[in-house]
Amino acid sequence: MTHVLYALGATTSETTTALSDWTGRITTLAYLVAAVLFILALAGLSRNETAQRGNTLGATGMTVALVATVAKALVQSHENPGEYRSAMTTLLLIAVAMLVGALIGVPMAKKVEMTGMPQLIALLHSFVGLAAVLIGFNSWLHPQDVSAEMESFHLGEVYLGIFIGAVTFTGSIIAYLKLSGKIKGAPLTLPGRNLLNLTVIVVSLVGMGLFIAGDGGSTPAVVSLAVMTVLALLLGLHLVAAIGGGDMPVVVSMLNSYSGWAAAAAGFMLANPLLIITGALVGSSGAYLSYIMCQAMNRSFAAVILGGFGTGSATAAEHDYGTHTETTVAETAQALLGAKKVVITPGYGMAVAQAQYPVAQLTDTLRKAGVDVTFAIHPVAGRLPGHMNVLLAEAKVPYPIVHEMDEVNDDFGDVDVVLVIGANDTVNPVAYEPGSPIEGMPVLKVWDAEKVIVFKRSMGSGYAGVQNPLFFNENTDMLLGDAKASVDAINSELAKLAPAR
Ligand code: NDP
Repeated sequence: MTHVLYALGATTSETTTALSDWTGRITTLAYLVAAVLFILALAGLSRNETAQRGNTLGATGMTVALVATVAKALVQSHENPGEYRSAMTTLLLIAVAMLVGALIGVPMAKKVEMTGMPQLIALLHSFVGLAAVLIGFNSWLHPQDVSAEMESFHLGEVYLGIFIGAVTFTGSIIAYLKLSGKIKGAPLTLPGRNLLNLTVIVVSLVGMGLFIAGDGGSTPAVVSLAVMTVLALLLGLHLVAAIGGGDMPVVVSMLNSYSGWAAAAAGFMLANPLLIITGALVGSSGAYLSYIMCQAMNRSFAAVILGGFGTGSATAAEHDYGTHTETTVAETAQALLGAKKVVITPGYGMAVAQAQYPVAQLTDTLRKAGVDVTFAIHPVAGRLPGHMNVLLAEAKVPYPIVHEMDEVNDDFGDVDVVLVIGANDTVNPVAYEPGSPIEGMPVLKVWDAEKVIVFKRSMGSGYAGVQNPLFFNENTDMLLGDAKASVDAINSELAKLAPAR
């Protein structure tokens, strides 16, 4: 490009300015391409069949964005040796940071079980929050060139960025501790907690006014920033600590959304349009996912955003539901071969046991034997949105026989046998009882089927810690043991029985 401009008769300074302009425009174009690729990635990720393509598009978008950013930094500084050296040093530091991150992150990602993903994601969200806080303070201490008329706006974005980042940071840490079981017990329900949250928000807003009015440098401005930071850290902690076990899925997607807004705020502070777009995409898609999850959990979206939900009695009283009936592998195999219609409702226990492969084999065998087998997936089964769909796709269960809860929940009356494989809360009829900790949460109405066989290791409760009366119903049989071992044994039994059919 430089040679072309010289050839056209441009002076050195004109050439440098034109080159800088061109690089800026090409980078903006590359950012636009990356943003479109990110949107297509999100669209792809919304369906099992296109999820891999979505991932590839997202990774391509990120590569385009990285190459454009690095190229811009090098090209725009290459005429000035001092700036060029500084750009190279910055890039080198970034590369070292990426290497260190990769050395820690890759083994962690390889090691983490699918069932440990929610806590890992929560931890990663906390990094985004912390980054926004640090970028905010950096932007405040070392303001970049901002025109006088934009000064107030810039101070506003710094203040908001730190606020959102701080809430995301501590909220995500608490979510991590809860999801990994490091914090157990009832949710923290302080008296007047909604009023407390509201007070923190109002005080922070007043502080924002003082911060901007004091040009970010006066004593009241500095005190406002410090007070708001502490309050925002406490708010994040309080918002998530108040949420009950069964409602944690919504918290994961809500913090995902908060981390997106924190990244967008960082984008404003760094004047990086792609970071703003990417943050807004994550923020809005996370908010939409939270909305869908709220509908699935029958919770109010507004209550989730304000952290004022997860109510109901915090702990469930133990009930005497009578005695349960146990069954055997041989009886289960017979029941399955005698059935016309079988529905499998998997849950977290299937993921723990890694039973998806024998379950896929069982499905295949039964379908070949003429049994109509389908899956009913609860929206919060497992520990991640879409957890069961991912496991079943991994085991190559055909997509068309995997149904969402809403599609099939009224049809269990026509089902001969339901296999509840490692699910508990998602099939717990206590959700219909007023005052129960999972009151109002829609559940799979498996009890309407002629027979229900539950695969789990004990009579213990699920994630929400609520006893499940389904296990004591007359038409329910318990097949106690590890889900994978049980399904493997049924497959062996069927291999003996099916040919004789
Ligand atoms: P639950 O967590 O309610 O129950 C899982 C059951 O699996 C347990 O009762 C356990 O019983 C059994 N289990 C565990 N290991 C095995 C094994 N190796 N073999 C057989 N069974 C096993 O699962 P659900 O999927 O029904 O419900 C999900 C819960 O997680 C909901 O409360 C949801 O709100 C919450 N959650 C969901 C998230 C999401 O995004 N999907 C995120 C965070 C929380 P036992 O020990 O007796 O074997």
